[in-house]
Amino acid sequence: MNLVHEPGLSFDTVALVCRVIEACRDAAVSQEAYLCDLDRAIGDGDHGTNMRRGLEALAAERQLLSAMPLSDAMIAAGTILVMNIGGAAGPLYGTLLLETGKGLSAGQIPFPQAFLQAVGAVAQRGRSSPGDKTLLDVLVPLSEALVKQTDMRCLAEEIQGFADMTIDMKAVRGRASFLGERSIGHMDPGAASCALFATTVCHELMETARS
Ligand SMILES: [Mg+2]
Repeated sequence: MNLVHEPGLSFDTVALVCRVIEACRDAAVSQEAYLCDLDRAIGDGDHGTNMRRGLEALAAERQLLSAMPLSDAMIAAGTILVMNIGGAAGPLYGTLLLETGKGLSAGQIPFPQAFLQAVGAVAQRGRSSPGDKTLLDVLVPLSEALVKQTDMRCLAEEIQGFADMTIDMKAVRGRASFLGERSIGHMDPGAASCALFATTVCHELMETARS
């Protein structure tokens, strides 16, 4: 199953994009309290609510988004996330989707390369690197695995492990960094939400490939 290695999702993208957005919205709703709990431990406790709000705004536009070319849909989705996710996460998630969409539209590059470039843009935007206890600790290994064409099923099973690695890290960016050593022992909420959505997307793509 190498759907994401095609230079654009070629089959029924309308239904697929709708299902992916709905699944991510459902995940955000069901995990809102969990993500808020993680953020309360090392931040201000609003990450779950912010992500739920962003994904609900995205889901409200899913018919429109799914009718667009994938590149345009990702740019539009990024804009929606920037406007609707509060806190530090909005611009980071927004940049990820916007830059992936731009990569797909401009260079005719395949999805994994566009995603890899977008992750670089997120790192610049957040001025952070892997190991800083942020969502990059999920995005960087995820994008590298996609470029190496890791099997989707293997990848889906690995993603949560990337977020788990942030538990032992000391935060050096964002609000959690004020805690210094005391941030150690808690999973980064951004890494957790990132793993949640990435796993959800993988499962939807596998479902689609099977049906
Ligand atoms: Mg927060």
